[in-house]
Amino acid sequence: MNVILRSKLFPLFWTGATAVTIRDMIYVRRDYWSWLPVDSQRALITHELVHVRQEGQEGAVRFFFKYIFQRSFRFKMELEAYTAEAQFWINQGVPKQYAVLIMARTLSSSLYRVSSYGGALLHLWENTK
Ligand SMILES: [Zn+2]
Repeated sequence: MNVILRSKLFPLFWTGATAVTIRDMIYVRRDYWSWLPVDSQRALITHELVHVRQEGQEGAVRFFFKYIFQRSFRFKMELEAYTAEAQFWINQGVPKQYAVLIMARTLSSSLYRVSSYGGALLHLWENTK
């Protein structure tokens, strides 16, 4: 796994994204990465490592097509990644209610357009310890 900092992710990926994983390479916007506290960098890596595994299982090309064109697939992939990220924060001592709430808000944001806030919240709550 390598973290590669770039000034822009576009045209690599849509402009709203701050990080994108291709095979075992995690591309992160340089300005975003340097702004993040170390714990948040680790949380981001935790999230992206889930995508590394998912892409490995699915095959990178197939993963990207499905991710971009199939809303239900994107939701499933992101839900798993955000659940891991929420668990990371909980393990760091962040109260579960707070970690789950933040992840659900991000997951239901315009970046992914995959989930209702309530639905994301419920899933994250049920799948973190
Ligand atoms: Zn993700």
